[in-house]
Amino acid sequence: MTAIRLNNVRKSFGTFDVIKGVDLEISPSEFMVFVGPSGCGKSTLLRLIAGLEDITAGTLAFDDKVVNSLTPSQRGIAMVFQSYALYPHMTVFDNMAFGLKLAKGGTEEIKRRVNEAADMLQITAYLDRLPKQLSGGQRQRVAIGRAIVRDPKVFLFDEPLSNLDAALRVQTRLEIAKLHAKMHETTMIYVTHDQVEAMTLADRICVLRDGIVEQVGTPLELYEKPQSVFVAGFIGSPK
Ligand code: ADP
Ligand code: MG
Repeated sequence: MTAIRLNNVRKSFGTFDVIKGVDLEISPSEFMVFVGPSGCGKSTLLRLIAGLEDITAGTLAFDDKVVNSLTPSQRGIAMVFQSYALYPHMTVFDNMAFGLKLAKGGTEEIKRRVNEAADMLQITAYLDRLPKQLSGGQRQRVAIGRAIVRDPKVFLFDEPLSNLDAALRVQTRLEIAKLHAKMHETTMIYVTHDQVEAMTLADRICVLRDGIVEQVGTPLELYEKPQSVFVAGFIGSPK
């Protein structure tokens, strides 16, 4: 089964074509990384999958159902951005629980889920604090926790580590890898322009160039058999 399928997906802003016909299949529980230089369309492609932007042409399907006109919450996705996008006046707990409506269990179930996510990310001690009382790394963990609490089918990350310093970047990267191992059944799509992040996190890497897919493959495939000098340059392989 394919979790996510893109067929000839296009996106234009006015007369400016940003995504120029992308075909891509992503398996359930796969960790897919989009890489490519700044401005090549990584964030736009992620936002199309999320439903934060409308697709200009083409088809986007989740589990073989077309989702072109569904909202982000109808798609069962959660997204983590480079800027943490936390509500400054709410505690960590309230940030994580905000807007969470559960069919079953009510407040007790919300508490249970927030505590479980906080435990997983080691932020339990900060649940009563405000975002401004946290470091950048802790805030990004809260943002990841807020996504986990929603138990998404698809987890999207847009350069989540780029505001962190080098040591925290490595630590948070390892946490994201652990998260992927724990969250079976969850498809992860991760945008970065950092080759090391791509090579270490990805099951497969999709190299984007100027709104098209240049090559898709495992890190090893891209490293050993880059199809172009562009891919080789990007992945750091010797071609
Ligand atoms: P990346 O994430 O790879 O750096 P983006 O997807 O953010 O690239 O942007 C791709 C191109 O689309 C850029 O040239 C950017 O300026 C343009 N773009 C992105 N969003 C919009 C928008 N809302 N309106 C107009 N142009 C946009
Ligand atoms: Mg971007």
